[in-house]
Amino acid sequence: MPPQLFDSYGRGHDDLRISVTDRCNFRCFYCMPEEGMQWLPHEEVLSYEEIARLVRITTELGFVSYHLTGGEPLLRKDLDRLVRMMLQIQPGMDLALTTNGVALPQMAGKLYAAGLRRINISLDTLDAQKFFLITRRDVFGQVMAGIEAAARAGFSPIKINAVAVKGLTEQELPRFARWARETGHIVRFIEYMPLDADRSWERGKVLAAEEILEGLSAEGELELTSGHPSDPATRYRYRDGKGEVGIIASVTRPFCQACNRLRLTAEGMVRTCLFSNVEHDLKALLRGGASDAEIETWLAGVVWTKTPGHLIGQKAFVQPARTMSAIGG
Ligand code: SAM
Ligand code: SF4
Repeated sequence: MPPQLFDSYGRGHDDLRISVTDRCNFRCFYCMPEEGMQWLPHEEVLSYEEIARLVRITTELGFVSYHLTGGEPLLRKDLDRLVRMMLQIQPGMDLALTTNGVALPQMAGKLYAAGLRRINISLDTLDAQKFFLITRRDVFGQVMAGIEAAARAGFSPIKINAVAVKGLTEQELPRFARWARETGHIVRFIEYMPLDADRSWERGKVLAAEEILEGLSAEGELELTSGHPSDPATRYRYRDGKGEVGIIASVTRPFCQACNRLRLTAEGMVRTCLFSNVEHDLKALLRGGASDAEIETWLAGVVWTKTPGHLIGQKAFVQPARTMSAIGG
């Protein structure tokens, strides 16, 4: 079924990013403060049954792509149960998980057995000390073991997401390029976005797509490969056939005009954009006895309000009050 929900700019929506928890066991500097995080009380977080209801409703509205994220989604107990519930609702859905990878040694097999096939693991460096500086947790070895566990469980290819920050990522580019070529993992670099808790983001700290491409090209000649039009990553492969990399240029080349996404926060707020300053309270409807038809009409109204795009780097830009971890990246 084609998308049923359109915004006032004619963009159809068929992709839902679901944050299953606001909690995290890392404190990445670009996402969370080092200390003082306040977590939502458990009863404020949507249950798997509530999430599954929204999945059922959006399936009826033509959504085909779903993404589980957080906070750290693997902190949520038995996430494989939610994966099963979702795949039962729409067996052919394109379902992906984004995780920091630290719990994958325990969870990768269970998630694969539940039917999950797409996994994105966040890793910004291949250097253990740098990893500690970025995440403020000394668990580099566990994350690497998590990546291996995911490969052993059957996930292939594995996508690795690295936030690209000036002064930090340049040295990582050749190392990651070689690693991608050796392992077959697809390493994707995401331009650093202003969603940090410390509000220390500056345009000058973004390692831009052009610079990333230059660094990656030093390891071999790259050629563009095609992806889905709404895939935010520009994908490249090395001409000798060994290794694929990607760049998500959210800051320097925003892909807002092709945006097909809606987001659900852990406590049941719907957001039409990572950078919007407005949230829509779905939980009040879910817990207030609204019918499926009422929720469908409400969602259509929410999507209609979506703005044309973010204004990062422009004077009018207002950083959202919430950080990436609280929205769900
Ligand atoms: N905890 C999981 C993880 O780290 O993969 C899932 C949630 S995390 C918020 C999702 C993704 O957002 C991660 O790949 C992370 O690197 C990315 N991210 C967080 N803050 C960011 C920022 N300020 N700019 C760009 N990407 C960011
Ligand atoms: Fe946690 Fe992911 Fe944010 Fe890092 S990026 S603090 S792992 S939610």
